[in-house]
Amino acid sequence: MIKVAKFGGSSLADANQFKKVKDIILKDSNISATIVSAPGKRFSEDSKITDLLYLSYAHLKYSVEYEKMFANIEDRYFKIKKDLNLNIDLKKEFNIIKHKMKKGMNKDYLISRGEYLNGKLLAEYLGYDFIDAKDIIFFNFKGNINMEKTKKAIEKVFEYNSKVIIPGFYGSLPNGEIKVFSRGGSDITGAIVAKIINASVYENWTDVSGILMADPRIVDNPKRIDFITYNELRELSYMGANVLHSNAVAPVKEANIPINIRNTNDPSNQGTMIVQNSHEILEKYKSSPITGIAGKKNFSILSIYKYPMSEEANSLLTILDALKKYNINIEHISSGIDNFSLIIASEKLEKYLYEIIADVKKLCNSIEVKVVQDISLIAIVGRNMVHKPGTSGKLFAAMGNDNVNIRVISQNADELNIIIGVDNQDFEKCINVIYKNFV
Ligand code: ASP
Repeated sequence: MIKVAKFGGSSLADANQFKKVKDIILKDSNISATIVSAPGKRFSEDSKITDLLYLSYAHLKYSVEYEKMFANIEDRYFKIKKDLNLNIDLKKEFNIIKHKMKKGMNKDYLISRGEYLNGKLLAEYLGYDFIDAKDIIFFNFKGNINMEKTKKAIEKVFEYNSKVIIPGFYGSLPNGEIKVFSRGGSDITGAIVAKIINASVYENWTDVSGILMADPRIVDNPKRIDFITYNELRELSYMGANVLHSNAVAPVKEANIPINIRNTNDPSNQGTMIVQNSHEILEKYKSSPITGIAGKKNFSILSIYKYPMSEEANSLLTILDALKKYNINIEHISSGIDNFSLIIASEKLEKYLYEIIADVKKLCNSIEVKVVQDISLIAIVGRNMVHKPGTSGKLFAAMGNDNVNIRVISQNADELNIIIGVDNQDFEKCINVIYKNFV
């Protein structure tokens, strides 16, 4: 059994966290590749190293004093080195970076140093080999991963090593320059490595004990999700649950490798397993009707009425075509006989609202266009809802009993989720009512 373990910034924020990580890795001989983030926050007002690096770059670019801020970054690493009694020549490492900063360097090089140096520290602390991500993660000039080249390089590493530390978040371009993923991208590095070495599981260690059934800022002490499918996770993440970098799921999903979200501060907790839609798991967790609840505020409903729309073939097509030029994502569409409603994020719609209304009226000879604002969308996600009568009935009854007015409803035939739209002011209440009635 081979495992890939990725440790996020809060798991490696100081020497004390390094100790916990070392314990976890040494206790599990299956962990072969360990991917690290840059040091994160040690307490809530603290700064993440990556944020400080972005700021340092901005200061440097606009010729504002950056030395003090950069000295803070140096202090963080020197403190970890001292507390763990390491020998790494940090002075030399920082001299190289500072020299490049003076001479002019590419931005991503500087940003990536957070992960690079943390990887170096952890490699020495564990006595493992450090593999620089620039030598194994390759981008093409478009910024996409060159999978073939990356695969060859990673396979070569594992021909000679069985335990390695790899800094996450960056790789290199065809000309050798460093390129970083978008924020939170160490998750992607871990997923790519897990896929290539065909890991049995990709462990993603963070500071929460898995994915919760609802946002703990809204629901008091929500339960942990034990098992969730990739598809359910996609639904929950899209609706606001913040778990993994969205591009980290595809590589492991394709290879059918489960992701295990674990807590560095509570390693005996089994966390959440993200898996394919397997029959075995469906059977085991048949009893829970829903997997999770998530939601987002601030949508608008654009309702278009025209008589007799039902007798025309192309009304919807004409409207959607008209919206194309505004580059607006339509979240959901619901329809009546002579009308349909488009649900769109208010932020996107507001910018072009009057142009869109004028276009729609002109193109479609529409009689009336109405806009309802301040709508929240809430998704109830669950693989067990399929073919099970009563879920929506129970949901609507619960809403009625608690006096929450449902403005729109959307459910696909795959029954993986039911989405309801309520007034923004009912958002928190609605999530709590659903939780209370289903969990
Ligand atoms: N350190 C980077 C960030 O803060 C990448 C990561 O942690 O995954 O976004």
